[in-house]
Amino acid sequence: MSAPEYSVHALRYAQSVGKRSSFFYRYDLSKQADAEQHIDWYFWLLQGGGKTVLVDCGYNEERGARKGRYQGTAPLELLSRAGVRAADVDHVVVSHMHYDHVGNIGLFPNATFSMARSEFEWMQGPYANRFPTCWTVEPEEREMMQNLNREGRVTLVDDRTEVLPGIAVSLVGGHTPGQTLTEVTSTAGQIVLASDAAHLYEEFETDRAFNMFHNLEDMYGAYERLRDLNDRPKTIVIPGHDPRVGRRYAQVEADCFDLTHQVTDD
Ligand SMILES: [Zn+2]
Repeated sequence: MSAPEYSVHALRYAQSVGKRSSFFYRYDLSKQADAEQHIDWYFWLLQGGGKTVLVDCGYNEERGARKGRYQGTAPLELLSRAGVRAADVDHVVVSHMHYDHVGNIGLFPNATFSMARSEFEWMQGPYANRFPTCWTVEPEEREMMQNLNREGRVTLVDDRTEVLPGIAVSLVGGHTPGQTLTEVTSTAGQIVLASDAAHLYEEFETDRAFNMFHNLEDMYGAYERLRDLNDRPKTIVIPGHDPRVGRRYAQVEADCFDLTHQVTDD
């Protein structure tokens, strides 16, 4: 039987604006002016073959607010706009252990999960309680993931695993030790959800390094891999936080974008 083809939606739960100089690694203000950088906050909904799958799930509203991040729309409200209840979610791919990707993993009572083994081990490592790591993923969030694993609900990915027919998760590292990409067979070709392997198109298009990483070489390796994938026929790469995604693809409900339907090259 051939793999199912999925519908793929990007759900935007928040928007923010910062400075480009704080977004990119070693941004040289003597050579280029600073400017505003708009950031959108997404997670992704895949539906096909009778399955409802999420890639990531957004930050928890209260924990996000403590970091100065404010939610425009609750992730569960966005799912309900797409006709999905929390109990309908069969599987959640956790692209990496940062608060804006794992904050709501406790909300899906019937879901199984997958994530990179290296990420799972890193978050239990000896330095996981140092401040910068605790800021990016709080102990409460790590504990939720560990509890799900104890319940036997987590598949740990070593290199590349097809977590469901037509949905492959592969390890790239770089941004975090176990950052993954998710490749989806969609109704309009292959869609590669980069999540934070590239926050913005320009990271992989121009090798412009994001300012937070675990391993710079692996992050460049991920950009190269994304460029290669993006050059393949009928394959598109979707970065994790780029406002251009919300312009390029059809908005089918407020803040819900159909990634199988491109409306502009902008
Ligand atoms: Zn993120």
